[in-house]
Amino acid sequence: MPVNLLDFDLPQLTDFLASIGEKPFRARQLMRWVHHFGESDFACMTDLAKSLRARLEHEAVVGGPKLLSESTAADGTRKWLLDVGAGNGIETVFIPETGRGTLCVSSQVGCALECAFCATGRQGFNRNLSVAEIIGQLWWANRALGRDAHSDPATGDRIITNVVMMGMGEPLTNFDNVVTALRIMLNDYAYGLSRRRVTVSTSGIVPNIDRLREECPVALAVSLHAPNDALRDRLVPINRKWPLAQLLAACRRYVEAIPYEDGQDQASPSGVKWKRLGAPRDFVTFEYVMLAGVNDQPQHARELLAIADEVPCKFNLIPFNPFPHSGFERSQPEIVRRFQQTLLDAGVVTTVRRTRGDDIDGACGQLAGRVNDRTRRRERHEVEVRA
Ligand code: SF4
Repeated sequence: MPVNLLDFDLPQLTDFLASIGEKPFRARQLMRWVHHFGESDFACMTDLAKSLRARLEHEAVVGGPKLLSESTAADGTRKWLLDVGAGNGIETVFIPETGRGTLCVSSQVGCALECAFCATGRQGFNRNLSVAEIIGQLWWANRALGRDAHSDPATGDRIITNVVMMGMGEPLTNFDNVVTALRIMLNDYAYGLSRRRVTVSTSGIVPNIDRLREECPVALAVSLHAPNDALRDRLVPINRKWPLAQLLAACRRYVEAIPYEDGQDQASPSGVKWKRLGAPRDFVTFEYVMLAGVNDQPQHARELLAIADEVPCKFNLIPFNPFPHSGFERSQPEIVRRFQQTLLDAGVVTTVRRTRGDDIDGACGQLAGRVNDRTRRRERHEVEVRA
C-alpha cells in the first residue's frame, strides 16, 4: 500500500526516505515539491533523480482531498466541500481581506462537544481527520487559488497569509494529527507560515492547551461564549469538565512571560525585559458568539472585564448565524455595539467579527459539511425539537 506523503512532517518524510535508502536532503526537496509547489505528479519533480521518482511512483502518493462542491460568495469568500470518504464531507473556507487571506481549516468530521449554538455540534461526531486530510485543506486551497508558489503571480504577495483551526471539530481532541499538520504549516520548505499567523481555537481542553504550548506554540483562541460557569455549562458543555477557573489558569500559563536579563522580547513600563515562554503572542483571543438575551446583557460584559483582569486577552464578538431549530437568535447590532463599548471603555481590545460569506454559510458555526453521525445526535435533537 503506497504511503500518502501529505501525512508526513519533515522528520517523518526524512525517515521514510531513509527507509528506501535516500539521504535527508531529499526530504527537503520533496517537501518543497509537495507543499510549496503543490505538485502531486512525481514525474514533474525534475530535481529528483529519475530512479527516486520511479521508486516513489510505486511506494508513495500525494493524495490530496477530492472536491464535492465549491461556492464563492459575493464578498469573495470561497468555500470548498471536500470528500473524506464514507459519504462524509468537510468544509474549508477562504476569506480574502485587504492585505491578508485567511483559511479556516477543519480538524474532525463533525464534533462531539455539543456546544449549544453550533451547527457542527448539532451534527454529531464521526471521526478525527488524518494529518493528510487536515494539511490537505491548505494544500488544496493553495492549488485552487491558482498559485504555483505561495504568492499572487501579479503582486508577489502571499494569498493565504493566515490559517485558523476554527472549522469543523475541536482541534485539541485530535491533538497528534493537528500538531503534525501545524508543523507542516510552519515548515519553511512547506508553507513557511509564522507562528503568529496560525491560530488554534479550542473550546477549552485544558490539558492539551498546556501540551500545545510545549509541543507547538501557535496563537491561541478560546471559544468562551459565556462569562460564568452557570451559563458556560449550558452553552459549552465541556465547561462541566474543565470549568472557567481551570481554563483561565491554562490561558495564563499559555501566554506567560518570565523576566529575562538581556532579551528584548518585551519591556515592561518599569524597564524589566521579559521573555515569552513559547507562545508567539502575549494574549489569548476569546471568541464570544452574541446570542440575543442569553449572553449579551450589560452584566455579562462586566463579568468579562473580570476575566480580562485575570488573563491578557482580546475579545472577538461574533454575530450568531441562525440555523434551523437552533433555539437562539442573533443579538441586535445596537446591543453588540454597546457590549463592545463597555469592554473598550475599560481598555480591553474588542473587535466585532464581520460576517463573511453569508450567502454561502461560510461563517464560524456554519461549517456544517456532511456528516454521517455516529452519535445519532441529529436525530436526538430533532426528537427534542418536535417534542
Ligand atoms: S463550537 Fe467548536 S467545539 Fe463546540 S460543537 Fe462547534 S465545532 Fe465543536
